[in-house]
Amino acid sequence: MAKKEEREIVVIGAGPAGYAAAFKASDLGLNVTLIGKEAEPGGTCLHEGCIPVKTLVEVLKIKEEAAKAKDWGMEFTAPKIDVKSLLKWKDETVKKLTEGIGVLSKDREIEYIRGTATFLSEHEIEVNPHEGDQFTLVFEKVILATGSVPKELPKAKFDKKRIINSTTALELKKIPETMLVVGGGFVGPSLGSIYASLGSKVSLAESTSGILSWLDQDLADIFNKQNVELFTDIFLETMVEEAIVKDDKVKVSFKNKEKSWEEEYDLVLVAQGREPNTSQLQLDKAGVEIDEEGFVQVDESRKTSNENIYAIGDITEKPFYANKASHEGQLVAEVLAGKETQGYSLNAIPSIIATPLTEIAWCGLSEVEAKKQEVEIKVVKFPWSASGRAASMGIRHGLTKLIIDKESGRIVGGGVVGEKAGSLIAEIAFAIEMSASAEDVALTMHPHPTLSETIMEAAESYFGSPTHLAGKKND
Ligand SMILES: Cc1cc2nc3c(=O)[nH]c(=O)nc-3n(C[C@H](O)[C@H](O)[C@H](O)COP(=O)(O)OP(=O)(O)OC[C@H]3O[C@@H](n4cnc5c(N)ncnc54)[C@H](O)[C@@H]3O)c2cc1C
Repeated sequence: MAKKEEREIVVIGAGPAGYAAAFKASDLGLNVTLIGKEAEPGGTCLHEGCIPVKTLVEVLKIKEEAAKAKDWGMEFTAPKIDVKSLLKWKDETVKKLTEGIGVLSKDREIEYIRGTATFLSEHEIEVNPHEGDQFTLVFEKVILATGSVPKELPKAKFDKKRIINSTTALELKKIPETMLVVGGGFVGPSLGSIYASLGSKVSLAESTSGILSWLDQDLADIFNKQNVELFTDIFLETMVEEAIVKDDKVKVSFKNKEKSWEEEYDLVLVAQGREPNTSQLQLDKAGVEIDEEGFVQVDESRKTSNENIYAIGDITEKPFYANKASHEGQLVAEVLAGKETQGYSLNAIPSIIATPLTEIAWCGLSEVEAKKQEVEIKVVKFPWSASGRAASMGIRHGLTKLIIDKESGRIVGGGVVGEKAGSLIAEIAFAIEMSASAEDVALTMHPHPTLSETIMEAAESYFGSPTHLAGKKND
């Protein structure tokens, strides 16, 4: 008979949601068991998402920068890319970070089990360890954090060789001569631009009217204009109907409003979305409700329909971000430790996308959303063509934008496009969470010369003209 043991808190899934919850719960005095599929905790973010993508982007940025440096008085010969070494660097970076998370877990005396867990009942899970025999854990509380997985296209099934998802793409097994990226959302432009920078001829197909079509278009347009040079073709309002592997090529059928046509590629990356990873968990046995898309239903403390089971991260709702996942993880740990919390009530979830040519980041209310919600706003912008630091970095395109509530003067949203946008957005997120007004930001002295001044000068625009833009009267 399978071994049966009792545990206080079991966290299923060791990504940024799960390990953040486990660490905080342990720090608050709870006994924690963390179950993850990989040798070390880290989840999608560290093993096959944020960290590997950014590691490759950072290296390829050097190549793209070097190509521009001739105009700045420094000429390089064309770089030689050693894909094996690049892959080694990426893998070493991932290893270093995931091992670090493993050490932090051990230091906290968290029991880490490498394996998979499924529910047997409302109080029990079955664990299939990576090594050894299956066993049962009877839990007091479970925190579910099994993340999300890439969505397949019905007629373009992943084969890990020619039709691949983002995880396989990051293995850089082959740099194809030609490649199609399906999806112009969060993952497609980033991964597509990495392959383009490595020398592939990359085309991109997107079903909506633009890349990042859901974002404020003034920001998306600047991002797209800079990245467009990396792509051979961009097919908008185009559906990929089918992809068939034949003789080492993938034949892809496209359809748009006017026509249907076919093209051949060496590789097809399907990056048109992810879905919650709940199908293998036997949640029905645990009495945990999910919606029709598979998202676990939770209240504001992240409690599911089973009062002893909580859920956090990608399995609860979009957006799929590591920062949101770990925030929820810490919140649930506090709830389980009996602390008073404000519940899950974020006003500003920052998002970033990076390519070797530029970055884009946003948070809070967008202009598009404000219009939908009929919130009266004033939009202020500071173009980077007026930033001293941007000029000194040779950056010609970039924009910082703030969305300000007209009634209160408070900053409710914002976006940045340009180098380091992902770091700059933190100030806007902080301003939103602190209910800061445009005046607060405008009167905060920012260091000079930095890109952060673009946020200050955007805020100054609320009152008229910032120092470095042509004068105009306030309206
Ligand atoms: C290519 C790519 C780039 C990304 N870039 C960014 C970025 O720049 N910034 C950002 O914020 N987000 C980014 N994301 C999203 C981010 O990775 C996720 O939002 C985040 O990892 C979600 O955390 P999570 O803990 O909910 O789930 P995950 O990180 O997916 O972790 C869940 C873990 O649970 C494990 N698991 C699943 N089932 C079981 C089971 N039955 N038993 C035990 N373990 C199980 C899985 O193997 C996985 O390790 C990116 C994602 C991808 C794919």
